[in-house]
Amino acid sequence: MKTVRARLVVILVSVAALLALPAPTQAVTDPAKTPTAVGTGGAAATVEGLATEAAIEALRGGANAIDAAVVAAAVLGVTEPFSCGIGGGGFMVIHTAEGTTTTVDGRETAPAAMHPQSFWEDGAPLPFDDARYSGMSAGVPGTVAMWDRALRQYGTMSLGETLQPGIAVARNGFLIDQTFHDQTAGNVDYFDDVPSSAALYLDPDGTPRDVGTVLRNPDLAATYDRIARLGAKGFYRGAVADAIVEAVTDPPVSADANHTWRPGVMTQRDLLRYTALEREPAHVTYRDVDVFGMGPPSSGGSTVGEALNILEGYDLAGVTRAEALHRYLEASRFSFADRNAYIADPAYFDVPLTGLLSDTFAAERRDQIGDTAATSPVPPGDPYPHNGGGTGAGMAATTTGHETTTHLTVSDRDGNVVSYTFTIESTGGNGIVVPGWGFLLNNELTDFNFSSTTHPNRVEGGKRPRSSMSPTIVTRDGEPLLALGSPGGATIITTVLQILVERLDLGASLPDAIAAPRASQRNTTATNAEPAFIQSPEGQELASAYGHVFSSTSEIGAATGIEFLTDGGVVAAAEPQRRGGGTAMVEQPVP
Ligand code: GLU
Repeated sequence: MKTVRARLVVILVSVAALLALPAPTQAVTDPAKTPTAVGTGGAAATVEGLATEAAIEALRGGANAIDAAVVAAAVLGVTEPFSCGIGGGGFMVIHTAEGTTTTVDGRETAPAAMHPQSFWEDGAPLPFDDARYSGMSAGVPGTVAMWDRALRQYGTMSLGETLQPGIAVARNGFLIDQTFHDQTAGNVDYFDDVPSSAALYLDPDGTPRDVGTVLRNPDLAATYDRIARLGAKGFYRGAVADAIVEAVTDPPVSADANHTWRPGVMTQRDLLRYTALEREPAHVTYRDVDVFGMGPPSSGGSTVGEALNILEGYDLAGVTRAEALHRYLEASRFSFADRNAYIADPAYFDVPLTGLLSDTFAAERRDQIGDTAATSPVPPGDPYPHNGGGTGAGMAATTTGHETTTHLTVSDRDGNVVSYTFTIESTGGNGIVVPGWGFLLNNELTDFNFSSTTHPNRVEGGKRPRSSMSPTIVTRDGEPLLALGSPGGATIITTVLQILVERLDLGASLPDAIAAPRASQRNTTATNAEPAFIQSPEGQELASAYGHVFSSTSEIGAATGIEFLTDGGVVAAAEPQRRGGGTAMVEQPVP
Protein backbone atom coordinates (compact mmCIF):
# COMPACT_ATOMS: atom_id res chain seq x y z
CA MET A 1 0.00 0.00 0.00
CA LYS A 2 2.76 2.39 1.00
CA THR A 3 4.58 1.70 -2.30
CA VAL A 4 1.44 2.43 -4.28
CA ARG A 5 1.09 5.62 -2.32
CA ALA A 6 4.69 6.60 -2.89
CA ARG A 7 4.24 6.08 -6.63
CA LEU A 8 1.04 8.08 -6.51
CA VAL A 9 2.88 10.92 -4.83
CA VAL A 10 5.42 11.05 -7.65
CA ILE A 11 2.69 11.05 -10.29
CA LEU A 12 0.67 13.68 -8.51
CA VAL A 13 3.63 15.92 -7.94
CA SER A 14 4.64 15.78 -11.60
CA VAL A 15 1.05 16.44 -12.67
CA ALA A 16 1.10 19.34 -10.23
CA ALA A 17 3.82 21.01 -12.25
CA LEU A 18 1.37 21.06 -15.17
CA LEU A 19 -1.52 22.33 -13.06
CA ALA A 20 0.03 25.58 -11.98
CA LEU A 21 1.58 27.81 -14.58
CA PRO A 22 2.87 31.36 -14.39
CA ALA A 23 0.26 33.89 -15.45
CA PRO A 24 2.05 35.63 -18.34
CA THR A 25 1.83 32.58 -20.63
CA GLN A 26 -1.91 32.32 -20.11
CA ALA A 27 -4.90 34.16 -21.49
CA VAL A 28 -6.65 33.66 -18.18
CA THR A 29 -7.85 36.91 -16.63
CA ASP A 30 -9.86 37.82 -13.59
CA PRO A 31 -13.04 39.77 -14.27
CA ALA A 32 -13.05 43.20 -12.59
CA LYS A 33 -14.76 43.17 -9.21
CA THR A 34 -17.98 45.17 -9.19
CA PRO A 35 -19.72 44.92 -5.84
CA THR A 36 -22.92 46.67 -6.94
CA ALA A 37 -24.90 46.47 -10.16
CA VAL A 38 -28.22 48.14 -11.01
CA GLY A 39 -30.49 47.38 -13.93
CA THR A 40 -33.29 45.13 -15.09
CA GLY A 41 -33.82 41.47 -15.89
CA GLY A 42 -31.96 38.75 -14.02
CA ALA A 43 -29.23 39.41 -11.48
CA ALA A 44 -26.45 37.54 -9.71
CA ALA A 45 -24.16 38.28 -6.79
CA THR A 46 -21.40 35.93 -5.65
CA VAL A 47 -17.99 36.28 -4.02
CA GLU A 48 -16.22 35.71 -7.32
CA GLY A 49 -16.28 37.24 -10.80
CA LEU A 50 -16.11 34.11 -12.94
CA ALA A 51 -19.07 32.60 -11.09
CA THR A 52 -21.19 35.74 -11.35
CA GLU A 53 -20.34 36.07 -15.06
CA ALA A 54 -21.25 32.45 -15.68
CA ALA A 55 -24.63 32.94 -13.99
CA ILE A 56 -25.38 36.07 -16.03
CA GLU A 57 -24.30 34.37 -19.25
CA ALA A 58 -26.64 31.50 -18.45
CA LEU A 59 -29.51 33.88 -17.71
CA ARG A 60 -28.91 35.72 -21.00
CA GLY A 61 -29.00 32.35 -22.74
CA GLY A 62 -32.45 31.60 -21.33
CA ALA A 63 -31.63 29.82 -18.07
CA ASN A 64 -33.85 30.45 -15.09
CA ALA A 65 -32.55 31.46 -11.65
CA ILE A 66 -32.31 27.88 -10.40
CA ASP A 67 -30.25 26.83 -13.43
CA ALA A 68 -28.02 29.89 -13.12
CA ALA A 69 -27.50 29.34 -9.39
CA VAL A 70 -26.21 25.82 -10.06
CA VAL A 71 -24.03 27.13 -12.90
CA ALA A 72 -22.47 29.69 -10.54
CA ALA A 73 -22.13 27.16 -7.73
CA ALA A 74 -20.30 24.71 -9.99
CA VAL A 75 -17.84 27.46 -10.96
CA LEU A 76 -17.38 28.39 -7.29
CA GLY A 77 -16.61 24.75 -6.60
CA VAL A 78 -13.55 25.25 -8.81
CA THR A 79 -12.49 28.77 -7.85
CA GLU A 80 -13.45 28.73 -4.13
CA PRO A 81 -12.51 25.14 -3.31
CA PHE A 82 -11.64 25.88 0.33
CA SER A 83 -15.12 27.24 1.00
CA CYS A 84 -17.47 25.05 -1.02
CA GLY A 85 -17.79 22.34 -3.63
CA ILE A 86 -19.11 18.90 -4.45
CA GLY A 87 -17.35 17.47 -1.39
CA GLY A 88 -19.73 19.39 0.89
CA GLY A 89 -23.32 20.49 1.29
CA GLY A 90 -25.64 23.46 1.64
CA PHE A 91 -29.11 24.93 1.69
CA MET A 92 -31.11 26.67 -1.01
CA VAL A 93 -34.18 28.87 -0.55
CA ILE A 94 -36.21 29.25 -3.75
CA HIS A 95 -39.01 31.70 -4.49
CA THR A 96 -40.76 30.77 -7.71
CA ALA A 97 -42.31 33.06 -10.29
CA GLU A 98 -45.62 31.44 -9.31
CA GLY A 99 -45.24 32.88 -5.82
CA THR A 100 -44.33 29.83 -3.73
CA THR A 101 -41.30 29.69 -1.47
CA THR A 102 -39.55 26.43 -0.69
CA THR A 103 -36.16 25.12 0.42
CA VAL A 104 -33.83 22.31 -0.57
CA ASP A 105 -31.70 20.71 2.14
CA GLY A 106 -28.40 19.37 0.80
CA ARG A 107 -26.81 19.05 4.21
CA GLU A 108 -24.22 16.33 4.73
CA THR A 109 -25.24 13.30 6.78
CA ALA A 110 -23.26 11.29 9.32
CA PRO A 111 -22.39 7.79 8.08
CA ALA A 112 -24.74 5.16 9.54
CA ALA A 113 -22.04 3.66 11.76
CA MET A 114 -21.35 6.88 13.66
CA HIS A 115 -22.43 7.31 17.29
CA PRO A 116 -22.23 9.99 20.02
CA GLN A 117 -18.62 9.12 20.87
CA SER A 118 -17.25 8.90 17.34
CA PHE A 119 -15.01 11.90 18.06
CA TRP A 120 -13.87 10.62 21.46
CA GLU A 121 -10.64 8.95 22.41
CA ASP A 122 -9.58 7.64 25.83
CA GLY A 123 -12.85 8.81 27.37
CA ALA A 124 -12.62 12.41 26.18
CA PRO A 125 -13.64 14.35 23.06
CA LEU A 126 -10.84 15.10 20.59
CA PRO A 127 -9.46 18.62 20.27
CA PHE A 128 -11.11 20.41 17.33
CA ASP A 129 -8.23 20.14 14.83
CA ASP A 130 -7.74 16.43 15.55
CA ALA A 131 -11.44 15.88 14.90
CA ARG A 132 -11.44 18.13 11.85
CA TYR A 133 -8.42 16.83 9.92
CA SER A 134 -9.64 13.24 9.77
CA GLY A 135 -11.81 10.88 7.78
CA MET A 136 -14.33 10.92 10.61
CA SER A 137 -15.33 14.58 10.15
CA ALA A 138 -16.48 14.10 6.56
CA GLY A 139 -20.23 13.87 6.18
CA VAL A 140 -21.78 12.22 3.15
CA PRO A 141 -21.69 15.10 0.63
CA GLY A 142 -25.05 16.58 -0.34
CA THR A 143 -24.21 19.16 -3.00
CA VAL A 144 -24.57 17.07 -6.16
CA ALA A 145 -27.87 15.57 -4.98
CA MET A 146 -29.21 19.01 -4.09
CA TRP A 147 -28.25 20.49 -7.46
CA ASP A 148 -29.95 17.56 -9.14
CA ARG A 149 -33.10 17.87 -7.03
CA ALA A 150 -33.38 21.64 -7.39
CA LEU A 151 -32.89 21.42 -11.17
CA ARG A 152 -35.38 18.60 -11.66
CA GLN A 153 -38.01 20.29 -9.56
CA TYR A 154 -37.52 23.96 -10.48
CA GLY A 155 -34.90 24.30 -13.23
CA THR A 156 -35.03 24.10 -17.00
CA MET A 157 -31.51 22.77 -17.65
CA SER A 158 -30.04 19.34 -17.02
CA LEU A 159 -27.35 18.85 -14.40
CA GLY A 160 -24.92 18.13 -17.23
CA GLU A 161 -25.65 21.44 -18.95
CA THR A 162 -25.19 23.46 -15.78
CA LEU A 163 -21.78 21.89 -15.15
CA GLN A 164 -20.25 22.99 -18.48
CA PRO A 165 -19.01 26.46 -17.41
CA GLY A 166 -17.44 24.89 -14.30
CA ILE A 167 -15.74 22.27 -16.47
CA ALA A 168 -14.33 25.03 -18.70
CA VAL A 169 -12.94 26.97 -15.73
CA ALA A 170 -11.46 23.81 -14.20
CA ARG A 171 -9.76 22.98 -17.52
CA ASN A 172 -8.64 26.48 -18.54
CA GLY A 173 -7.69 27.62 -15.07
CA PHE A 174 -8.20 30.72 -12.97
CA LEU A 175 -5.89 33.19 -11.30
CA ILE A 176 -4.92 32.65 -7.70
CA ASP A 177 -5.68 35.84 -5.77
CA GLN A 178 -4.58 37.01 -2.35
CA THR A 179 -7.59 35.49 -0.56
CA PHE A 180 -6.96 32.10 -2.17
CA HIS A 181 -3.28 32.34 -1.27
CA ASP A 182 -4.04 33.22 2.35
CA GLN A 183 -6.60 30.44 2.67
CA THR A 184 -3.99 27.98 1.39
CA ALA A 185 -1.41 29.32 3.82
CA GLY A 186 -3.71 28.55 6.75
CA ASN A 187 -3.77 24.88 5.71
CA VAL A 188 -0.17 24.27 4.63
CA ASP A 189 0.80 22.31 7.71
CA TYR A 190 -1.99 19.81 7.02
CA PHE A 191 -2.14 19.87 3.19
CA ASP A 192 1.52 18.85 3.11
CA ASP A 193 0.60 15.64 4.93
CA VAL A 194 -1.73 14.66 2.07
CA PRO A 195 -0.04 14.25 -1.35
CA SER A 196 -3.27 14.75 -3.31
CA SER A 197 -3.95 18.04 -1.50
CA ALA A 198 -0.34 19.20 -1.71
CA ALA A 199 -0.13 18.40 -5.43
CA LEU A 200 -3.13 20.56 -6.21
CA TYR A 201 -2.68 23.48 -3.84
CA LEU A 202 1.01 23.73 -2.93
CA ASP A 203 4.13 24.45 -4.96
CA PRO A 204 6.64 21.58 -5.08
CA ASP A 205 8.57 23.29 -2.24
CA GLY A 206 5.50 22.96 -0.02
CA THR A 207 4.52 26.64 0.02
CA PRO A 208 1.22 28.10 -1.25
CA ARG A 209 1.13 28.88 -4.95
CA ASP A 210 1.91 32.52 -5.71
CA VAL A 211 -0.75 35.14 -6.28
CA GLY A 212 -1.22 35.44 -10.06
CA THR A 213 -0.55 31.77 -10.78
CA VAL A 214 -3.05 30.10 -13.11
CA LEU A 215 -4.49 27.07 -11.37
CA ARG A 216 -6.06 24.29 -13.38
CA ASN A 217 -7.91 21.32 -11.94
CA PRO A 218 -8.28 18.69 -14.70
CA ASP A 219 -9.25 16.05 -12.13
CA LEU A 220 -12.23 18.11 -11.02
CA ALA A 221 -13.11 18.78 -14.67
CA ALA A 222 -13.17 15.02 -15.18
CA THR A 223 -15.34 14.53 -12.09
CA TYR A 224 -17.83 17.15 -13.29
CA ASP A 225 -17.72 15.55 -16.72
CA ARG A 226 -18.53 12.14 -15.24
CA ILE A 227 -21.48 13.64 -13.35
CA ALA A 228 -22.57 15.45 -16.52
CA ARG A 229 -22.64 12.14 -18.39
CA LEU A 230 -24.07 9.88 -15.70
CA GLY A 231 -26.13 12.27 -13.57
CA ALA A 232 -25.93 12.38 -9.76
CA LYS A 233 -25.23 8.66 -9.68
CA GLY A 234 -21.89 9.46 -11.32
CA PHE A 235 -20.98 10.89 -7.93
CA TYR A 236 -22.84 8.64 -5.52
CA ARG A 237 -21.94 5.30 -7.17
CA GLY A 238 -18.93 3.81 -8.86
CA ALA A 239 -15.44 5.24 -9.14
CA VAL A 240 -16.00 8.60 -7.39
CA ALA A 241 -17.96 7.03 -4.53
CA ASP A 242 -15.31 4.34 -4.14
CA ALA A 243 -12.56 6.98 -4.03
CA ILE A 244 -14.45 8.99 -1.39
CA VAL A 245 -14.91 5.92 0.80
CA GLU A 246 -11.24 5.00 0.39
CA ALA A 247 -10.11 8.54 1.30
CA VAL A 248 -12.37 8.61 4.38
CA THR A 249 -11.64 5.15 5.72
CA ASP A 250 -7.92 5.16 4.96
CA PRO A 251 -6.83 8.82 4.80
CA PRO A 252 -4.29 9.10 1.94
CA VAL A 253 -1.49 10.65 3.98
CA SER A 254 2.23 10.40 3.32
CA ALA A 255 4.51 8.24 5.44
CA ASP A 256 6.16 11.32 6.94
CA ALA A 257 2.92 13.12 7.85
CA ASN A 258 3.39 15.14 11.02
CA HIS A 259 -0.20 14.73 12.22
CA THR A 260 -2.39 11.75 13.03
CA TRP A 261 -5.26 11.45 10.55
CA ARG A 262 -7.96 9.29 12.08
CA PRO A 263 -10.09 7.17 9.74
CA GLY A 264 -13.84 7.54 9.32
CA VAL A 265 -16.54 4.94 8.81
CA MET A 266 -18.30 6.02 5.59
CA THR A 267 -19.44 3.24 3.28
CA GLN A 268 -20.66 3.03 -0.32
CA ARG A 269 -24.10 2.38 1.11
CA ASP A 270 -24.02 5.73 2.97
CA LEU A 271 -23.33 7.48 -0.33
CA LEU A 272 -25.96 5.48 -2.20
CA ARG A 273 -28.60 6.38 0.36
CA TYR A 274 -27.96 10.12 0.41
CA THR A 275 -31.08 12.18 -0.35
CA ALA A 276 -31.50 15.93 -0.72
CA LEU A 277 -34.76 16.96 0.93
CA GLU A 278 -37.29 19.59 0.01
CA ARG A 279 -38.55 21.27 3.17
CA GLU A 280 -40.99 23.98 4.16
CA PRO A 281 -39.20 27.26 4.80
CA ALA A 282 -38.99 28.75 8.28
CA HIS A 283 -41.30 31.76 8.02
CA VAL A 284 -42.08 34.87 10.05
CA THR A 285 -43.82 38.10 9.27
CA TYR A 286 -41.81 41.19 10.21
CA ARG A 287 -43.66 44.49 10.10
CA ASP A 288 -45.01 44.60 6.51
CA VAL A 289 -42.83 41.84 5.01
CA ASP A 290 -42.58 38.04 5.02
CA VAL A 291 -39.19 36.53 5.80
CA PHE A 292 -38.44 33.01 4.56
CA GLY A 293 -35.37 31.16 5.81
CA MET A 294 -33.90 27.71 6.19
CA GLY A 295 -35.50 25.56 8.87
CA PRO A 296 -33.85 22.73 10.86
CA PRO A 297 -31.33 21.19 10.60
CA SER A 298 -30.21 24.76 10.00
CA SER A 299 -30.62 27.14 12.90
CA GLY A 300 -30.56 30.03 10.39
CA GLY A 301 -34.25 30.58 9.71
CA SER A 302 -35.40 29.92 13.27
CA THR A 303 -32.83 32.19 14.92
CA VAL A 304 -33.14 35.07 12.45
CA GLY A 305 -36.93 34.65 12.71
CA GLU A 306 -37.06 34.58 16.51
CA ALA A 307 -34.84 37.67 16.74
CA LEU A 308 -37.01 39.52 14.21
CA ASN A 309 -40.14 38.60 16.18
CA ILE A 310 -38.49 40.06 19.29
CA LEU A 311 -37.41 43.20 17.43
CA GLU A 312 -40.89 43.72 15.99
CA GLY A 313 -41.92 44.94 19.44
CA TYR A 314 -39.58 47.94 19.23
CA ASP A 315 -39.81 51.05 17.07
CA LEU A 316 -36.24 50.72 15.79
CA ALA A 317 -36.70 53.49 13.21
CA GLY A 318 -37.82 55.92 15.90
CA VAL A 319 -34.89 55.63 18.34
CA THR A 320 -31.19 56.51 18.21
CA ARG A 321 -28.91 54.26 16.19
CA ALA A 322 -27.19 53.11 19.39
CA GLU A 323 -30.51 52.15 20.97
CA ALA A 324 -31.60 50.26 17.85
CA LEU A 325 -28.31 48.36 17.77
CA HIS A 326 -28.63 47.59 21.50
CA ARG A 327 -32.00 45.95 20.75
CA TYR A 328 -30.47 44.07 17.82
CA LEU A 329 -27.64 42.71 20.00
CA GLU A 330 -29.95 41.67 22.82
CA ALA A 331 -32.52 40.06 20.53
CA SER A 332 -29.66 38.06 19.06
CA ARG A 333 -28.29 37.13 22.51
CA PHE A 334 -31.60 35.67 23.67
CA SER A 335 -32.36 33.98 20.35
CA PHE A 336 -28.95 32.31 20.39
CA ALA A 337 -29.63 30.87 23.85
CA ASP A 338 -32.68 29.17 22.34
CA ARG A 339 -30.89 28.20 19.15
CA ASN A 340 -28.12 26.54 21.14
CA ALA A 341 -30.59 24.48 23.16
CA TYR A 342 -33.29 23.46 20.71
CA ILE A 343 -32.03 23.15 17.12
CA ALA A 344 -30.91 19.84 15.69
CA ASP A 345 -31.86 17.53 12.83
CA PRO A 346 -35.68 17.28 13.10
CA ALA A 347 -35.52 13.60 12.11
CA TYR A 348 -33.72 12.92 15.42
CA PHE A 349 -35.05 15.61 17.77
CA ASP A 350 -38.50 17.10 18.07
CA VAL A 351 -37.53 20.72 17.36
CA PRO A 352 -40.12 23.13 18.84
CA LEU A 353 -40.02 25.30 15.73
CA THR A 354 -43.59 26.57 16.02
CA GLY A 355 -42.90 27.73 19.56
CA LEU A 356 -39.56 29.31 18.70
CA LEU A 357 -41.17 31.27 15.86
CA SER A 358 -44.32 32.27 17.75
CA ASP A 359 -45.07 35.90 18.60
CA THR A 360 -46.05 34.88 22.14
CA PHE A 361 -42.67 33.26 22.85
CA ALA A 362 -40.94 36.30 21.32
CA ALA A 363 -42.95 38.55 23.67
CA GLU A 364 -41.81 36.45 26.63
CA ARG A 365 -38.17 36.78 25.56
CA ARG A 366 -38.58 40.52 24.86
CA ASP A 367 -39.78 40.99 28.44
CA GLN A 368 -36.42 39.63 29.64
CA ILE A 369 -34.45 42.18 27.63
CA GLY A 370 -33.39 45.25 29.57
CA ASP A 371 -32.17 48.72 28.69
CA THR A 372 -28.58 47.60 29.20
CA ALA A 373 -26.71 44.50 28.06
CA ALA A 374 -27.59 41.23 29.81
CA THR A 375 -24.88 39.05 31.30
CA SER A 376 -24.27 36.00 29.14
CA PRO A 377 -24.81 33.18 29.03
CA VAL A 378 -28.51 33.86 29.45
CA PRO A 379 -30.48 30.61 29.87
CA PRO A 380 -32.72 29.34 27.09
CA GLY A 381 -36.42 30.09 27.32
CA ASP A 382 -39.16 27.48 27.18
CA PRO A 383 -40.78 27.48 23.74
CA TYR A 384 -42.80 24.31 24.41
CA PRO A 385 -45.91 25.96 25.88
CA HIS A 386 -45.98 27.99 22.65
CA ASN A 387 -45.52 24.86 20.57
CA GLY A 388 -48.63 22.95 21.55
CA GLY A 389 -47.13 20.92 24.46
CA GLY A 390 -44.04 18.76 25.08
CA THR A 391 -41.05 19.16 27.34
CA GLY A 392 -37.89 21.13 26.99
CA ALA A 393 -34.29 20.01 26.72
CA GLY A 394 -32.70 23.31 27.74
CA MET A 395 -28.94 23.29 27.87
CA ALA A 396 -26.02 25.39 26.81
CA ALA A 397 -24.16 24.64 23.63
CA THR A 398 -21.07 25.68 21.77
CA THR A 399 -20.98 28.38 19.15
CA THR A 400 -18.45 28.69 16.39
CA GLY A 401 -17.37 31.44 14.03
CA HIS A 402 -15.16 30.53 11.10
CA GLU A 403 -14.67 32.58 7.98
CA THR A 404 -15.58 30.07 5.35
CA THR A 405 -18.49 28.92 3.20
CA THR A 406 -19.97 30.99 0.38
CA HIS A 407 -23.33 32.55 -0.44
CA LEU A 408 -24.76 33.32 -3.86
CA THR A 409 -27.95 35.06 -4.82
CA VAL A 410 -29.52 34.80 -8.28
CA SER A 411 -32.80 36.00 -9.83
CA ASP A 412 -34.28 35.86 -13.32
CA ARG A 413 -36.50 38.10 -15.43
CA ASP A 414 -39.57 35.97 -14.65
CA GLY A 415 -39.39 36.41 -10.89
CA ASN A 416 -37.67 33.20 -9.75
CA VAL A 417 -35.21 33.93 -6.94
CA VAL A 418 -32.55 31.70 -5.39
CA SER A 419 -30.68 32.31 -2.15
CA TYR A 420 -28.07 29.59 -1.74
CA THR A 421 -25.36 29.05 0.89
CA PHE A 422 -22.99 26.12 0.55
CA THR A 423 -19.88 24.97 2.31
CA ILE A 424 -17.33 22.35 3.19
CA GLU A 425 -17.40 23.77 6.80
CA SER A 426 -13.90 24.95 7.83
CA THR A 427 -11.72 26.73 5.26
CA GLY A 428 -10.16 23.76 3.48
CA GLY A 429 -12.69 21.25 4.86
CA ASN A 430 -11.05 18.16 6.30
CA GLY A 431 -7.88 18.84 4.26
CA ILE A 432 -8.20 15.75 2.06
CA VAL A 433 -8.47 16.13 -1.72
CA VAL A 434 -10.01 12.88 -2.96
CA PRO A 435 -7.08 11.38 -4.91
CA GLY A 436 -7.66 11.51 -8.65
CA TRP A 437 -10.91 13.50 -8.46
CA GLY A 438 -9.80 17.02 -7.54
CA PHE A 439 -12.14 18.07 -4.71
CA LEU A 440 -11.77 18.54 -0.97
CA LEU A 441 -13.93 16.65 1.49
CA ASN A 442 -15.92 18.52 4.09
CA ASN A 443 -15.51 18.43 7.86
CA GLU A 444 -19.19 19.22 8.43
CA LEU A 445 -19.58 16.62 11.20
CA THR A 446 -17.67 18.85 13.59
CA ASP A 447 -20.85 20.97 13.50
CA PHE A 448 -22.36 18.37 15.81
CA ASN A 449 -21.98 19.07 19.54
CA PHE A 450 -19.50 16.22 19.47
CA SER A 451 -18.28 16.68 23.01
CA SER A 452 -21.77 15.89 24.35
CA THR A 453 -23.45 12.51 24.29
CA THR A 454 -26.84 13.92 25.31
CA HIS A 455 -27.28 17.24 23.48
CA PRO A 456 -30.01 17.23 20.78
CA ASN A 457 -27.22 18.00 18.28
CA ARG A 458 -25.03 15.06 19.40
CA VAL A 459 -23.48 12.78 16.77
CA GLU A 460 -25.75 9.98 15.52
CA GLY A 461 -25.61 7.77 12.44
CA GLY A 462 -27.57 9.14 9.48
CA LYS A 463 -28.12 12.51 11.17
CA ARG A 464 -27.50 15.98 9.72
CA PRO A 465 -25.47 18.32 11.94
CA ARG A 466 -26.99 21.62 13.01
CA SER A 467 -26.04 24.46 10.70
CA SER A 468 -26.04 28.24 10.92
CA MET A 469 -26.47 28.83 7.22
CA SER A 470 -29.17 31.42 6.65
CA PRO A 471 -30.12 31.82 3.01
CA THR A 472 -33.05 34.23 3.21
CA ILE A 473 -35.73 35.62 0.90
CA VAL A 474 -37.98 38.52 1.91
CA THR A 475 -41.26 39.26 0.13
CA ARG A 476 -43.75 42.11 0.42
CA ASP A 477 -47.34 41.42 -0.65
CA GLY A 478 -46.10 38.18 -2.17
CA GLU A 479 -43.52 39.89 -4.40
CA PRO A 480 -39.76 39.40 -3.85
CA LEU A 481 -38.16 42.32 -2.00
CA LEU A 482 -34.77 41.02 -0.86
CA ALA A 483 -32.66 37.88 -1.12
CA LEU A 484 -29.47 37.52 0.87
CA GLY A 485 -27.07 35.36 2.86
CA SER A 486 -23.50 35.13 4.06
CA PRO A 487 -20.71 32.78 5.11
CA GLY A 488 -19.19 32.91 8.59
CA GLY A 489 -20.20 29.97 10.81
CA ALA A 490 -22.55 31.04 13.59
CA THR A 491 -21.93 34.70 12.67
CA ILE A 492 -23.91 34.02 9.48
CA ILE A 493 -27.08 34.40 11.53
CA THR A 494 -26.15 37.75 13.03
CA THR A 495 -24.81 39.03 9.70
CA VAL A 496 -28.12 38.30 7.97
CA LEU A 497 -30.07 39.73 10.91
CA GLN A 498 -27.99 42.91 11.04
CA ILE A 499 -28.34 43.47 7.27
CA LEU A 500 -32.11 43.06 7.57
CA VAL A 501 -32.27 45.55 10.45
CA GLU A 502 -30.05 48.04 8.61
CA ARG A 503 -32.10 47.71 5.41
CA LEU A 504 -35.64 47.37 6.76
CA ASP A 505 -35.48 49.61 9.84
CA LEU A 506 -32.47 51.90 9.78
CA GLY A 507 -32.75 53.26 6.25
CA ALA A 508 -29.64 51.78 4.65
CA SER A 509 -29.60 50.71 1.02
CA LEU A 510 -28.80 47.02 0.50
CA PRO A 511 -25.19 47.73 -0.61
CA ASP A 512 -24.68 49.97 2.43
CA ALA A 513 -26.26 47.41 4.74
CA ILE A 514 -23.89 44.75 3.37
CA ALA A 515 -20.88 47.05 3.78
CA ALA A 516 -21.78 48.35 7.28
CA PRO A 517 -19.40 47.50 10.17
CA ARG A 518 -20.67 44.45 12.04
CA ALA A 519 -21.14 43.17 15.56
CA SER A 520 -22.18 39.61 16.42
CA GLN A 521 -23.71 38.73 19.82
CA ARG A 522 -24.18 34.96 20.26
CA ASN A 523 -24.92 34.64 23.96
CA THR A 524 -21.33 35.20 24.99
CA THR A 525 -20.01 37.72 27.51
CA ALA A 526 -18.19 39.75 24.89
CA THR A 527 -19.75 40.64 21.56
CA ASN A 528 -17.49 39.99 18.56
CA ALA A 529 -17.25 43.19 16.55
CA GLU A 530 -15.21 44.62 13.73
CA PRO A 531 -12.83 47.46 14.67
CA ALA A 532 -14.88 49.96 12.64
CA PHE A 533 -17.98 49.03 14.65
CA ILE A 534 -16.20 49.33 18.00
CA GLN A 535 -14.74 52.71 17.04
CA SER A 536 -17.97 54.14 15.59
CA PRO A 537 -19.93 56.67 17.70
CA GLU A 538 -22.68 54.10 18.28
CA GLY A 539 -20.13 51.43 19.17
CA GLN A 540 -18.65 53.76 21.80
CA GLU A 541 -22.13 54.58 23.11
CA LEU A 542 -23.09 50.90 23.27
CA ALA A 543 -20.05 50.33 25.48
CA SER A 544 -20.38 53.42 27.69
CA ALA A 545 -24.14 53.78 28.06
CA TYR A 546 -25.51 50.27 27.40
CA GLY A 547 -22.85 48.12 29.04
CA HIS A 548 -21.80 46.12 25.96
CA VAL A 549 -18.36 44.53 26.02
CA PHE A 550 -16.71 44.05 22.63
CA SER A 551 -13.95 41.77 21.47
CA SER A 552 -12.35 42.84 18.22
CA THR A 553 -12.37 40.57 15.19
CA SER A 554 -11.08 41.69 11.81
CA GLU A 555 -13.97 40.61 9.59
CA ILE A 556 -17.46 39.21 10.05
CA GLY A 557 -19.26 37.71 7.05
CA ALA A 558 -19.05 38.33 3.29
CA ALA A 559 -22.66 38.70 2.21
CA THR A 560 -24.30 38.87 -1.17
CA GLY A 561 -27.85 39.89 -1.98
CA ILE A 562 -30.36 41.25 -4.45
CA GLU A 563 -33.04 43.90 -3.90
CA PHE A 564 -36.10 44.05 -6.15
CA LEU A 565 -37.33 47.58 -6.77
CA THR A 566 -40.98 48.50 -7.21
CA ASP A 567 -40.35 49.84 -10.74
CA GLY A 568 -39.10 46.43 -11.91
CA GLY A 569 -35.42 47.26 -11.43
CA VAL A 570 -32.93 45.17 -9.50
CA VAL A 571 -29.93 46.02 -7.34
CA ALA A 572 -27.40 43.19 -7.06
CA ALA A 573 -24.96 43.67 -4.21
CA ALA A 574 -21.86 41.74 -3.17
CA GLU A 575 -19.51 42.33 -0.27
CA PRO A 576 -17.20 45.21 -1.33
CA GLN A 577 -14.15 44.52 0.89
CA ARG A 578 -14.25 41.55 3.22
CA ARG A 579 -12.48 38.40 1.96
CA GLY A 580 -11.31 40.36 -1.07
CA GLY A 581 -14.80 41.44 -2.13
CA GLY A 582 -17.32 39.88 -4.50
CA THR A 583 -18.96 40.63 -7.84
CA ALA A 584 -22.53 41.59 -8.69
CA MET A 585 -24.02 41.79 -12.18
CA VAL A 586 -27.42 42.30 -13.77
CA GLU A 587 -28.70 41.10 -17.13
CA GLN A 588 -29.38 44.60 -18.47
CA PRO A 589 -27.34 47.20 -16.63
CA VAL A 590 -28.65 50.74 -16.38
CA PRO A 591 -26.59 52.66 -18.97
N1 GLU B 1 -20.60 24.56 8.75
C1 GLU B 1 -21.18 25.85 8.98
C2 GLU B 1 -22.64 25.77 9.17
O1 GLU B 1 -23.28 25.00 8.53
C3 GLU B 1 -20.94 26.74 7.83
C4 GLU B 1 -19.51 26.94 7.66
C5 GLU B 1 -19.09 28.22 8.23
O2 GLU B 1 -19.40 29.26 7.62
O3 GLU B 1 -18.44 28.16 9.25
O4 GLU B 1 -23.17 26.50 9.92
